[in-house]
Amino acid sequence: MGRTIAIANQKGGVGKTTTSVNLSACLAYLGKKTLLIDIDPQGNASSGVGINKKEIEGCIYDVLIEDEPMKSYIHETKIENLWIVPATMSLAGAEIELVSAISREVRLKRALDEVKGGFDYIIIDCPPSLGLLTINALTAADGVLIPVQCEYYALEGLSQLLSTVRLVQKHLNKELVIEGVLLTMLDARTNLGLQVIEEVKKYFREKVYKSIIPRNVRLSEAPSHGKPIILYDVRSRGADTYTELAREVIKNG
Ligand code: ADP
Ligand code: MG
Repeated sequence: MGRTIAIANQKGGVGKTTTSVNLSACLAYLGKKTLLIDIDPQGNASSGVGINKKEIEGCIYDVLIEDEPMKSYIHETKIENLWIVPATMSLAGAEIELVSAISREVRLKRALDEVKGGFDYIIIDCPPSLGLLTINALTAADGVLIPVQCEYYALEGLSQLLSTVRLVQKHLNKELVIEGVLLTMLDARTNLGLQVIEEVKKYFREKVYKSIIPRNVRLSEAPSHGKPIILYDVRSRGADTYTELAREVIKNG
């Protein structure tokens, strides 16, 4: 049965989508059957694995709002072992439409239960908010992976995320754990980055992944080619560190 990991942080620009795409691709590369689910209306994870949003019919919106089966919206990607359920702009309305929907917090979980058996890992790319889409991801997940950017105010807002995680644990998903905290966009030339690492480790201790993602220009170029980093530049430091992360995720179970 697939292990489901939600990539969440309500702050934008911390590396959620980059991590979703590249962790998924690296898990697939290591032989794990992986399903990436895009629940951000921006749909950046979808285009990041080469989906042309103009060419597809329907998306995760139809699953969440129209009760369509998940399996009808699973697409192959250029990477062996990697599949995606994409998001398009139509998902933008879902946050509001979910408010009055029946079972509004468990819709993703129920849809996922139908297909979970066919995968080793399911990775969910969350939008930059703590609304009902993110709540659906946390309710469906076994673990939440929190990317934290190595910048000033790295820990800001995390208490809000953690209290949302606790609420979901209490009311919707007792089994949810903090899968791990991932430090992203480290600029090793500055002291600031090292200070942030210390601060985050003091707070999250053994939950912090040993793999730390450096700031790497190849990682920021890859999405415009519709490719994960291991297809775009397998020799880059970005490819190395995301492969290391995938090994760590597999090792942690
Ligand atoms: P989020 O999904 O949290 O909003 P993204 O993954 O979209 O964050 O990252 C925000 C921006 O930073 C994007 O333009 C992305 O290409 C870039 N980026 C993310 N991680 C890195 C990295 N390690 N090195 C360089 N650029 C990065
Ligand atoms: Mg994103």
